[in-house]
Amino acid sequence: MTEPLTNNVYPRLLSPREREWIEWILPADRPGYKRYRELLDSMEVIGEGRRGQGEIILGEKGARVDLESPLPAVFAYGAIETNFGILSITVREILDAQISIEIVSHRADFIPEEFEESRRWTYSTWSIGEPCPQCMKPVREVFMHTSTGDRLMLAICPIDKRMWVYDAASMVNRLIPATNYYNELMLHRNIRDPKIALDSKRLFADLAKYTDEELTYAFLTYNKIRTKVHIDGLVESDRKEKPSMIRRLAGLFRK
Ligand SMILES: [Zn+2]
Repeated sequence: MTEPLTNNVYPRLLSPREREWIEWILPADRPGYKRYRELLDSMEVIGEGRRGQGEIILGEKGARVDLESPLPAVFAYGAIETNFGILSITVREILDAQISIEIVSHRADFIPEEFEESRRWTYSTWSIGEPCPQCMKPVREVFMHTSTGDRLMLAICPIDKRMWVYDAASMVNRLIPATNYYNELMLHRNIRDPKIALDSKRLFADLAKYTDEELTYAFLTYNKIRTKVHIDGLVESDRKEKPSMIRRLAGLFRK
């Protein structure tokens, strides 16, 4: 017997396992995720989203599912590796008091009642200095600060071709789609050769070619268009690249 992912009767409460998975990617010891948990507590499952079975919509009691609005950006993501393939949980940004949550199997259109879990990972619990939660390999870390003193970090995993920004105040990690970010980087570097400029996967292969300051500036301009972090003022790299002469002299004295 398999338990259908949604019982197709709405409104309803979250099932215990839905709640456990969602709370896992919204850790209560981080202020930004805790705020989301509190929102969820006052909501119920009001129906299915337009992406079909597996996407549930949480909203205020009595609300109707809004099928017209654009799909908001991902707020939290986690994957569970099982003997039934990978299950993933995606919580999106709140929009008009509704939150889309997708809980899907990458192998089938249902999730069995019982399965063996081998590993789970999520970006939500990642902290500075840790390896990539997915592949466990080191990430490129770009330390940044805003002109008002907020600390941010851009983390980039070249293996999984994923990037996210960590915000020290909320302790939230937000995924950044590489395509739009790379576009900003190319504009900043004034690279127009379409073979390079249109191939956003090169961001990961060519990562070592870009300085922290360049990656930071691209984040600043990207974030102005598609706000991931609300920032007052400017974003700067913590690391100022020294002029090459000073670097060479410093090298001499170190010997
Ligand atoms: Zn990785």
